[in-house]
Amino acid sequence: MTALTETNNAALLERAERVMPGGVLASFTTPADVAFVVREAHGSTIINEDGRPYVDYVMGSGPLILGHRHPRVVEAIERQLASGTHYYTLNKPAIELAETLVEAIPCAELVKFTSTGAEATFQALRIARAATGRDNIMRFRAGYHGAHDYGVAGATAGIAAGVTDRVLVGEFNDIENTVAQIRENADQLAAVIVEPFQRNIAPAPGFLEALREITRLTGVVLIFDEVVTGFRLGWGGAQGRYGVSPDLATYGKIIGGGLPLGAVAGSRRLMDLASPGHKGGDAVYFSSTLNGNPLAAAAGLATLEVLREPGVYDALESAGARLRIALADAVGDSPKPIFITGVGAMVGLNVGSGDPLLAATHHSSDAAARKKLETEMIRRGAFVNLGARLYVSTEHSDSDIQAAADALRGAVATLV
Ligand code: PMP
Repeated sequence: MTALTETNNAALLERAERVMPGGVLASFTTPADVAFVVREAHGSTIINEDGRPYVDYVMGSGPLILGHRHPRVVEAIERQLASGTHYYTLNKPAIELAETLVEAIPCAELVKFTSTGAEATFQALRIARAATGRDNIMRFRAGYHGAHDYGVAGATAGIAAGVTDRVLVGEFNDIENTVAQIRENADQLAAVIVEPFQRNIAPAPGFLEALREITRLTGVVLIFDEVVTGFRLGWGGAQGRYGVSPDLATYGKIIGGGLPLGAVAGSRRLMDLASPGHKGGDAVYFSSTLNGNPLAAAAGLATLEVLREPGVYDALESAGARLRIALADAVGDSPKPIFITGVGAMVGLNVGSGDPLLAATHHSSDAAARKKLETEMIRRGAFVNLGARLYVSTEHSDSDIQAAADALRGAVATLV
């Protein structure tokens, strides 16, 4: 057996390359000179196989809002571990998590678990088709709803033409055109699915309200994809924050506390279509082996219990705001225009200029320069997800925020 040595990182990267396409797990990939394999993580720190620590702003791509290995989450997992890892049938953590979701989520009368966010959006779209008897769905340019066919139609090879034809694409925050598009296509439109805060773009005043209004008028199911925003933008997620309630909402990430778990939540009328007891032409098949896995439910439940304690969301809001200010300060001398977006414990770094509420501003931003900046930040010890967001956790301290700002300041100096 090879001993763990200082060269472990490079050796493991090479082994991954031999047995995995592109040598990566998902789509996340970094230039070879900053790539690393994780040995361990705690709090806001992630450590590579050579022992180098980074301040982690990827945070598992969002789930770890309490940081890595939060003691309450670890304890909940250990407690459940002693009773078994999986049963494929009802268990107390899953029931308690469902109860908590119904209590917290404005649109939730019933919830049904999945293992991933993609599975949740896929099933929500299916419920919408069954409920309306219509086939088409609408999503928004550059939004993301997971890797299933309807989520990435038009953005990947391997999608049947019939599927792509069923997906209409709107422009986020363009109220007039979106309302017109929904109205014109309503007789075939089952659902509009939207990230209420799309990637780095905040919803423009009135946009979510307009979506709610026109979908209600036309009988289209409105789905908020809260896989990212759920329990991040506050206890009630984006629905609570913006005061707009959809028909269905989808979850992942935080509700599994770092283990695989997602959910669809919504009105009793719609969710009951997925009950095995529901009979008829609109009955929806919705099942998967690991749904409501007790270990993931226990981790999610422990996470939500900490989040609901007084002051936790205030602290997250404050940390996010301080990070935005520190990063904005760090880009002061940039040779290219950079603007910082985000809300609460979610921060966006954008290279470009223009109205941050206009989707066009983001579509025309300089993706290559942004990737360079983010790569340079990783080189300087701030681990960020290229092209995505910086996720803040309860564990990020002032010095972590300073480290990100310093990394960005150094990265900006490399832009020409
Ligand atoms: N919806 C949104 C808004 C997401 O950001 C993601 C993943 N980042 C998904 C759905 C898909 O979730 P998963 O990766 O768990 O399938």
